[in-house]
Amino acid sequence: MKILTLGKILNDYRDFLTDYEINELKEIQKKRTDFASQVKALQTALFGEEWDFMTREMTDTSNPMSKEYTERVNKKRAALGVGPINSAGSPTDNSSYLFCEEVVRQTKNYTEFLDLKRRKAKQTVFVDMDGVLVNFQSGIDRISEEDRIKYDGDLDEVPGIFSLMDPNEGAIEGYKWLCDNFDTYILSTAPWENPSAWIDKLLWVKKYLPEAAYKRLILSHNKHLAKGDFLIDDRTANGAGEFPGKHVHFGPTGHKDFRDWKGVISYMKNLV
Ligand SMILES: [Mg+2]
Repeated sequence: MKILTLGKILNDYRDFLTDYEINELKEIQKKRTDFASQVKALQTALFGEEWDFMTREMTDTSNPMSKEYTERVNKKRAALGVGPINSAGSPTDNSSYLFCEEVVRQTKNYTEFLDLKRRKAKQTVFVDMDGVLVNFQSGIDRISEEDRIKYDGDLDEVPGIFSLMDPNEGAIEGYKWLCDNFDTYILSTAPWENPSAWIDKLLWVKKYLPEAAYKRLILSHNKHLAKGDFLIDDRTANGAGEFPGKHVHFGPTGHKDFRDWKGVISYMKNLV
C-alpha cells in the first residue's frame, strides 16, 4: 500500500493539483481536528469535483462540464489511485473516501491519535484467529476420514478440530510485534454448534501465545461491537465487515497488500 501523507501529496503530486486544492490541503495540515472531520475536509478539498456545480465553479475556473475539466480531474484521480468521475461528474465508486481515510490515518495529525500519544497510550488492534493467526487447513488435514465425511460442509463443527491447528506463517512473531506497538487483543468467533471449539481456542492461545495474549482472548459473534482502531480479519462475517475502525482484510481473498503477515506488519509499521 502506498504511504501517502498530506505532506507527501503536496510534495509529489503538486503537478496534478490546482492552486486552490494546494491551499486547502495546507489549511488542513495546520488544523487539529478529529479523524472524521479531517477525512471530510480532505475529501471536499482534494476531490471537490464530486460536489455540486456551485462548488466546482468556485474551485475551478474552467467549465466544470467540459471535456478538459473531466480529463484534468481524472488524471489527478488516477495518479492518486482513485476511481474516475463519469461524464455527469459523479464518482463511480467510494474510493476517494477510502483514500482520504487512509491519508488521514497515515498523516497521524488527528486529535484522537495526538491524544493517545500525549497519554503515552497505544491504538487498539484486534486480531482474528482462523485464517489469520491460525492455519485452519492444518486442522482439516489432521481429522479422520470418518469425520471428514460426517461433517462435510461444516468442518468447523468437528469436535476438537481447533486443537489440531498450527499457527499461520509469521503469525506468532507478527502478533508479538503488534503487542509491542499496539494494545492488542484476539477477537475470534467460535462455532455455536461446536462447544469444544470454545475450549480449544483458549487452549490454542495458551499454547502459542501464553504471555502475549494472556487474558486477551475475546470470543464473539458480534465483532462490530469491539471498540478499537484496527481489526485484522480474513472475513467480513460476524460483524467484521461493520467494524467501526479499519478492517485490515487479511488473506487470499482480502486486500492485495494484506495477503500475509509480512504485508500486514509493513502496513502497521507506518501507523505507530
Ligand atoms: Mg477468520
